[in-house]
Amino acid sequence: MNSLFPSSNPATGTRGGWQELREAAVHRKGSVMLGKVLYIENLSVSFDGFKALNGLTLHVDPGELLCVIGPNGAGKTTMMDVITGKTRPDEGEAWFGGVIDLLALTEPEIVRAGIGRKFQKPTIFEFLSVFENLELAVAGDKSLWHTLVARLTSAQRDRIDEVLQIIALEDKRTVTAGELAHGQKQWLEIGMLLMQDPDLLLVDEPVAGMTPQETEHTGELLLSLAGKHSVVVVEHDMDFVRSIASRVTVLHEGRVISEGDMEKVQNDPQVIEVYLGE
Ligand code: ADP
Ligand code: MG
Repeated sequence: MNSLFPSSNPATGTRGGWQELREAAVHRKGSVMLGKVLYIENLSVSFDGFKALNGLTLHVDPGELLCVIGPNGAGKTTMMDVITGKTRPDEGEAWFGGVIDLLALTEPEIVRAGIGRKFQKPTIFEFLSVFENLELAVAGDKSLWHTLVARLTSAQRDRIDEVLQIIALEDKRTVTAGELAHGQKQWLEIGMLLMQDPDLLLVDEPVAGMTPQETEHTGELLLSLAGKHSVVVVEHDMDFVRSIASRVTVLHEGRVISEGDMEKVQNDPQVIEVYLGE
């Protein structure tokens, strides 16, 4: 985070880097996106002429848990790909924290800026223990070897303990990750993302393949993260979203067709139609 948010500006010696970034952004965009953790506007992405995103505009507030739902092919994963720098849009803008132009950053820079992404398939190290996986995540982009021989600071140990508690794997710290249940592997990966303390956490279909109990626990986990982090959950399963959502954005054919609380969107005729049409 620190490299992107300088605390003072060496060029002027007086004004804070934050303020300068902010002024530049306001100058460019007006004040519409200030105070938003994420602000995306009019994003379009084409694959061979087919528009996976087609004028997508949405925002995420600090500390909120936003659910993005929509039928298969609506563009949900593509949206995450754009936010994380994996896919570049043909058109549109994406701003992080009101000041950072995500479209100007590389994938690793976006991670360092404070955006963590949980993929559908967990990317944990199966042959290492739960604790060692979290230990690796502390190091960020350092090498495996360096991490395993380096000593953790006491602050880092405390953070690992804290995260083990959040993901309810305290009893499993010495267990080899490969032996965990499906749901526990997913939580471990969320834990690894939390080691970097991201401001924004993107989670793609977190409960796919989970048992009802695992699903319920995942809902509680995601809710517990909101407040401290902003969380965007992309989900196809309406029932799960109903159990956790505060604000819901519905995507269809690459754009937002409905937005509001669950009550509102599930009674929206357009939403009912696209879900029935699947
Ligand atoms: P969702 O996650 O909402 O199910 P996606 O974002 O994965 O939807 O996909 C949106 C549309 O874009 C789909 O029709 C999909 O087939 C298409 N698409 C996604 N990625 C690619 C790609 N790399 N090349 C071609 N088409 C793609
Ligand atoms: Mg998807």
